Parts: sequence; structure tokens; C-alpha cells
Amino acid sequence: MFPATSFKGKKVAVFGLARSGTACIEALRLGGAEVHAWDDSAPAVEKARGQGLPITSLHGLDFAGLDALVLSPGVPLTHPEPHWTVLKARHAGIEVIGDTEVFAREAAKAGSRIVGITGTNGKSTTTALIGHVLREAGLDVDVGGNIGTAVFLLRQPVKDRIYVLELSSFQIDLMPGLAPQVGILTNITPDHLDRHGNMENYAAVKARMFAKVGEGNTVLCGVDDGWCASIADKARWTGADVRKVSVIEGLADGITAHDGILRDRRAGLEEAQIDLRGMPAMKGRHNWQNACMAYGAAHAFGVALPVIEAAMKSFPGLAHRMQQVARAGAIALINDSKATNADAAEKALASFENIYWIAGGIAKAGGIEPLRPLFARVARTYLIGQATEQFAATLGTTMPVEACGTLENAVSAALRDARADGKPGAVVLLSPACASFDQYPNFEVRGDAFVKAVSQLPGIEMTLPGETHAART
Ligand code: ADP
Repeated sequence: MFPATSFKGKKVAVFGLARSGTACIEALRLGGAEVHAWDDSAPAVEKARGQGLPITSLHGLDFAGLDALVLSPGVPLTHPEPHWTVLKARHAGIEVIGDTEVFAREAAKAGSRIVGITGTNGKSTTTALIGHVLREAGLDVDVGGNIGTAVFLLRQPVKDRIYVLELSSFQIDLMPGLAPQVGILTNITPDHLDRHGNMENYAAVKARMFAKVGEGNTVLCGVDDGWCASIADKARWTGADVRKVSVIEGLADGITAHDGILRDRRAGLEEAQIDLRGMPAMKGRHNWQNACMAYGAAHAFGVALPVIEAAMKSFPGLAHRMQQVARAGAIALINDSKATNADAAEKALASFENIYWIAGGIAKAGGIEPLRPLFARVARTYLIGQATEQFAATLGTTMPVEACGTLENAVSAALRDARADGKPGAVVLLSPACASFDQYPNFEVRGDAFVKAVSQLPGIEMTLPGETHAART
């Protein structure tokens, strides 16, 4: 915890008393602001009062006497309708910002640098990968924001420290001053439209990642969907190093990896190449996109190519997202528990062959029907949970299917068969295409149960980095 000094001697209302909100309140108070904190949840208010936080009912407070409203990113700013505190703030003409904006002002004062990452998919993976590469390069780096650690729980900004921040569209909406040294937009597909109204609004918020791009900054913008391509085409960023990123086509000027080989080209000339194909955490086209972004960010900070390449190779991946957790001889065991719908499971099925697929739980609308074109990649399927009958009906006679009931049964049956079949490049893959709630509290607990079940099988070599593995067992 460190002081937020930009509101010294000023009056600020903070709405939202979750982790990021309470950290911001402490920081503002340490920095000499008068803070009035509130939440719509009575238990949250009572808990905060018990912790000695400065609680004031914002219903009764005259906002005209305030300098800013700091709003939790979980609270509606515009859709479906502005929260009542937002209406009061607008009426009083005060700014409405988030904790990430307060942090960014502190970072700018200290001369720290920010890498901002947004996009519909791949934010967390790209953020973690960039943090890993920059750390491996020996730079002074902190990673936080939407990915986990609230910004005011990171280390205090000092000159040249790099903050790699995952930013959701809700956070960006509350960051009028966002001006990252490296701004990254991975992709835009329909998401959160309940909170942004329509695609135009959603894309416009994402585009704000680049609104204040200036001299010496780097722009990394995916161009593989229409929304991002149009942002990249329309924008005029003077003085910035603008890099387009594609994993579908080879660009003469940009960073590409359409065939699994990352290439950095400027005006047709190839400046760098990294073969991503054998790297355990870089499987699948979507991860190639994340790798291109990470390459571009590391390059912007002057990290040498061999260092970037070695760091990509040693990246352990993010837990529950197509992460290899163990090997049994030549067979890789992969935890993709975050795949709670067919769309996400599609990424995993498309990334491997000879798959011993563990699926099931609570199915989403449409089940696994959209995955039919990928069934040829699956050797056998092991079903768990409520979706068993439905998925068995969809799979029909396209492959051998076993109803296993529990994840533990499924893991041991899948490995037994993968060993017996001896197919090249075989993987045991948990990619459920389902929510977990019939058997687990959430996808993380389901993924952890997979790792535990795997670790108890004979002849297994756990491949997770020591720290991650120790935390789990
Ligand atoms: P986010 O933080 O944006 O939700 P994650 O990095 O946590 O994204 O990845 C979540 C899931 O999204 C992954 O399990 C994978 O299926 C998919 N994914 C990851 N990166 C990308 C990408 N660049 N493009 C499309 N899908 C992706």
C-alpha cells in the first residue's frame, strides 16, 4: 500500500467496497484526501466500517462539494442505466474515474511506465506472458489490474518501473487519462453488450486504449477481426510505433504468426523470427496472437530476440487455460478447465490431435454440436457430470465414448487408453465445454481437482513450475 497523492487536500467519494475499492480508499487517505466511501450492499458497508474505513452514506452527501467519484468497474456507468452515484456526479459536474486512473496518475508522476492490455479474449494470457518475458529480461516489472492484483496492492511506482496492466473495458471507461507507453488491443468480438449497449460502443471503449498515443509510444493492434482492423486503419498516431498484428495473414509491415512462426516485418523486410510451434504454452492460433503482442511489447523495451524467445519457451502458461500440467512418457496432460463453453473448448480441440478428451458438467445452449468439425481430432471421449447423456448423443458413433461420472475416473481411463493406443502426439485434455457447478464451486477448483487426480496416477512427471505446483498440493 502506498499513497495516492493526486487528491491531496481534496474530497473524493469512493463507491464499491470490494478489494480494489478498499485498497484505493486507503491509498487516497494516505495521500491526504478526504474520502467518503459507500456501497449498495449493507454487509459490505458494515464490514468496511469494522475495518475503520471512512463510511458516509453517499445518498445524503452533496456531490457539489466533491472533486471526484471513484467508481468500482463492476458498477454500471452507462448501461443498462447509469448507477445513481453516476447521475449525482454528472449533475454536480465532477469527474467519474476508477482506481486504475488514480493509479495511472501516480505512476505518471513517478515516471513509471505502463503496458496496457485489452481485448475481448487473451487479455490475461498476454498480460502474464509479457510480465514473464520482461522479468526474464531482468527489467523491474509488476503485473496487475483485471488479472488479479488490484493496482494499489502493487509496489509503489518509481522511475522506470514497468506496470503490465490487464484492463477490462469497464476499467478503460473509467480512465480518461489512459496513456500507456505500450498499448495493446488483441481482438474484439461480441461480449458484455448488456453493459456497453451495442458493439459500436463496446469497440469505441476498447479503442480508447490508443486515444492518447503520442511520441515514442508503441501501438500493438490486432487486425484479424473487422472492429480491430477498422480501429487500426482509421487511426492516425503521430510519433508512435504502430504495429499491426495478424495470425491469419502475413503482413508486409507488422507482426504475424499465421503459420506458427512469428515474423516481425517492417516495410517488407524481416527483422526477427521466432518459431512458436514447439513451445508448450504457445499451442494454438489464439496463443500465437498473444505471443505476437508479447514480442511487440518486449521489443519496445529493447529486449533482445534470444531473450524473448527463451522466455516464451519457459512460460508456464496460465492455470486452467490449456496449461500442460504433466507428462506420462510422450503423452501430455492438459488442464483447460476455463473452457466453460463450446467456443473456448474449440480453441483447445483445434490445437491438438489424438486427443483423449474429458468433457462435461453443465452444458451451455447448443452443447458440443458446434465442435463437430473437430471430432476427427479426438481419439476417445470421457464424459462427466450432468451433460453426459446429451454429449453422448451428440458424439454418437463418431468415436468411442465412456461415461465416467467423476473427473478422477475420467483421468485414469483417459490415460489408460492413451497409453494403450500409443498414438503420436497424444494428449489427455480436460476441456469440459461446460460450467462446473454440478460437481465443483468453480472452474478453478475443477482444474485443481484435475491436477491432483493426474498427480496421483502412476508414472506421471508433473511439469508445472515448482511454485505453482506447490501452491496446489
Ligand atoms: P481474457 O483474460 O481476455 O478472458 P484469457 O487469456 O484468460 O483471456 O483466455 C481465456 C480463454 O480465451 C482461453 O482459455 C482461450 O480459450 C481463449 N483465448 C486466449 N487468447 C485468445 C486470443 N488471443 N484470441 C481468442 N481467444 C483467446
